[in-house]
Order: sequence, then C-alpha cells, then structure tokens
Amino acid sequence: MRCPFCPFTGARGDVHAHLVSEHADGVEIWAISDSRRRYLVTCPVCGAAHEARVKPRSKDPDFLETFAREIRMVAYDMLLNHVTVEHPELMVTERSQR
Ligand SMILES: [Zn+2]
Ligand SMILES: [Zn+2]
Repeated sequence: MRCPFCPFTGARGDVHAHLVSEHADGVEIWAISDSRRRYLVTCPVCGAAHEARVKPRSKDPDFLETFAREIRMVAYDMLLNHVTVEHPELMVTERSQR
C-alpha cells in the first residue's frame, strides 16, 4: 500500500512504521488534564478526522514522550484501517503497476 502523505510504498507494517517515524506531526495530541490526553488524526486524502481520548498510565515527562509515540502508533493504525476501506486506490503494491 502507499503512504497517504507521500509516495512511500510498502507492506502495511512498513507503511505504519514509516508514518510513525516520518509523519509524526500528522497526529495532534493535546492534554485535557494531567491524566487525560486526546489525539486527532486527519486523513490527508479526504479530510476525515478521527479523534479519541487516551489515558496515560504515568505523569512522568519521559513516559509522556514514549506515550506520544504509542499514541501515534494507535492513531496511524486507525488511519490505515480507514485508508484500507475508503481509499482502495492506495492499496497498490509495486508489482501491480505495470
Ligand atoms: Zn509518507
Ligand atoms: Zn480518507
């Protein structure tokens, strides 16, 4: 499948890892309170937004940095599920294009 943000193409797991490391700013994370965070991920293809609440297990600042990465992993998993259903044109493999 293809990355919805750029021409990067690979297996779903590769695209997921690519999104988490290369498109970190595609997921917005903000704090509601010390114990609550929300994230928002917007589909770059159609603009559909997915928002959810997440609860950190710790208030340790180092943990929150790790946690932000975990949130991006969850958020991009949601985005890839959306892309699989709504944007089959991105479900290409290198070999299918001839
Ligand atoms: Zn990309
Ligand atoms: Zn979409």
